Amino acid sequence: MKKDLLEKAAILQRDKESYAVTPHIPAGLTSPEQLRKIAAVAEKFNAQAIKLTSAQRIALVGIKEDELDAIWDDLDEPKGAAIGMCIRSIKICPGTTFCKRGQQDSVAVGLELDKRYHGMQLPWKFKMGVSGCANDCSETCIKDVGLIGTPKGWKLMVGGNGGAGARLSQTLAKDLNDDQAKALIDHVIQWFVKNDKKGRLGKFIAKMGFEEFKQEILSTFEGELPPAK
Ligand code: SF4
Repeated sequence: MKKDLLEKAAILQRDKESYAVTPHIPAGLTSPEQLRKIAAVAEKFNAQAIKLTSAQRIALVGIKEDELDAIWDDLDEPKGAAIGMCIRSIKICPGTTFCKRGQQDSVAVGLELDKRYHGMQLPWKFKMGVSGCANDCSETCIKDVGLIGTPKGWKLMVGGNGGAGARLSQTLAKDLNDDQAKALIDHVIQWFVKNDKKGRLGKFIAKMGFEEFKQEILSTFEGELPPAK
């Protein structure tokens, strides 16, 4: 892909000549003002479609290449990291902020993770999920790294991915408080960067063996963790 199109976060469409653009909407939480603005821009640039994406964004589809700069100027929103080798998305469920089943605050923790990691360049694409309870509405089960809320704290899951060679994530640690969960996620991401893995995290965990990966991560983690049970 051409570098300038990557910088413009322009996703080539099936017709091979138009693009989709996706403003970043952390946690998929928006407002009437933002929706009105996006709708007005979609109309102005004759978007062929407005698509709600699986990464909790709104894609404006069918934009001409020579209008990409202008549409981003009008949108005046951060660009969604929908393409490239980076942390693509942090999918966040409503958790204890809105959901009656929530056991942990997925919105607060998820938004902090989004602020820190969304768009971070990595050796390969990488997805995250934060779910407030075991129902896992953010599909942490198929994310490279993510959290699932339980009554005793967070379960930190690693190594999931969808697509070809789909894998379910496995539990790296449990009963974590917010700070422990964030620190351990950071450690996993630093491990991925340091080892320069060209592929999904789960592929390398499978190659190493989950127990060996777990041992390596937990033995090199300098933060505090709850005692293993
Ligand atoms: S994962 Fe649980 S807390 Fe989050 S939206 Fe689903 S049911 Fe609600």
